[in-house]
Amino acid sequence: MTNEELWRAVLGQIELSISKANFITWFKNTSILSNQDGVVTISVPNGFAKEWLENKYNLYILRALKGFDKNIQSIRCNISSEKSVSLPQTMDSLKNVDAVHPPENSGFVRKKLIEKPFFTATGPAEPAFHETNLNSRYTFENFIVAENNELARAACYAVSQNLGMAYNPLFIYGGVGLGKTHLLQSIGNEVVKNAPEKRIKYINSERFTTELVDSIKNQKIDLFKEHYQKMDLLIIDDIQFLSGREKTQNEFFHIFNSLYQLNKQIVISSDRPPKAIPTLEERLRSRFEGGMITDISRPHLETRIAILESKIAEKGFSIEPLAVRFIAENITQNIRELEGALNRVIAFSEFHRITPTLENTKQILSQLIENNKKTLHTDDIFRVITDFYTVTKEDLLKKGRKKEISHPRQVMMYLLRDELQMPFSGIGDILGGRDHTTALHAFEKINKQKETTLRVKEELATLKERLYYPS
Ligand code: ADP
Ligand code: MG
Repeated sequence: MTNEELWRAVLGQIELSISKANFITWFKNTSILSNQDGVVTISVPNGFAKEWLENKYNLYILRALKGFDKNIQSIRCNISSEKSVSLPQTMDSLKNVDAVHPPENSGFVRKKLIEKPFFTATGPAEPAFHETNLNSRYTFENFIVAENNELARAACYAVSQNLGMAYNPLFIYGGVGLGKTHLLQSIGNEVVKNAPEKRIKYINSERFTTELVDSIKNQKIDLFKEHYQKMDLLIIDDIQFLSGREKTQNEFFHIFNSLYQLNKQIVISSDRPPKAIPTLEERLRSRFEGGMITDISRPHLETRIAILESKIAEKGFSIEPLAVRFIAENITQNIRELEGALNRVIAFSEFHRITPTLENTKQILSQLIENNKKTLHTDDIFRVITDFYTVTKEDLLKKGRKKEISHPRQVMMYLLRDELQMPFSGIGDILGGRDHTTALHAFEKINKQKETTLRVKEELATLKERLYYPS
């Protein structure tokens, strides 16, 4: 087996055990440089990938390698500035997910200027557009890192350390209140700290549109463009609001291009991936997809608890651990709501001069939690499962035991229990009149796999996201 064949085989296996986004992000442009004395040296495009492969994916890689060659004992990554062998194009993920990959100019090599920028920046900036719009409250230090956001956080941090060179543009997407703005702002604040001379602008796309429209009205469009084209770091939040605004998209496209060609950093957020933003001009979409795309998903219980604890400490407050847990267990959708609930408990307790216990926390939040409960129906779960696994409802009800069907069916049983707290007998009934022990076993199996198999865990995260945030 040549090194190339070996790596291809290893990638084939790793692809099965991690998410597509992770796979493409970390394994694109990697190859085996050498395989000697039990040490496999892997060529990676940048320091960022080196860190992740060596620390995070080390075991996956090693396990897969050993499957082909027992003598292999360890791996090492070397950063290569040249473009190395790309992932085999036959892999399915690359066919469909052209969206998620690091930029061609990774490896910290500056991209050559291909064309002249559309506008050159001259003269002083217009004071009206002057502020950075950064809020110093959002930093990397007070951002809790967990599995739902670690990729996004790592990408943002890398960008803040290497403006224009690590990942450009960087596109972060995820549902409301999951920390996109926090991360975007952290990049800006980090750059202010390390390189105060850099010109930074944070703006959400609605405000960008308003400024643009005003500048057209006041005949200051040139100044507007000039101002934006001078930035070293341009952060545009919630880009989905540009959807359908042709004129704004057009101007943004020009600004984007001129910054990009000068290797200036652009960071963008959205509530969904570029492909899913309706009426986003094709040329903008493909620009976004030419960079790095990464998502933030909903946090797990432990993460929610950790976030609450850090916010409580920040405020110098004290709440009984059981009460903290209660909040985290009941406010599950997003972190903004979680903070809102916490603030409510704190306000109430300060007013009444009490330390929140489980009991009074329950009382304080009872209304909020009641209002918050989404009324999910079994049909919602059917819909999400059939969509995700491309199976039909009939498949799920039938007797068949083929894995393509039995796995979705078991996941469905798990969700019915976990999300709707249905009795196992009821679950069996809904799924083609099966016995309640079948439902119980399915639940236990998936519950266990969720801990041991990354793929199952990620499937569940996606399914829940779709249940609560149908697009
Ligand atoms: P989004 O922009 O995705 O809608 P935000 O960035 O506004 O969400 O986050 C909502 C709130 O939750 C903010 O107050 C933010 O500080 C907080 N938050 C989100 N994620 C985290 C995290 N991982 N650690 C700490 N706070 C977080
Ligand atoms: Mg936001």
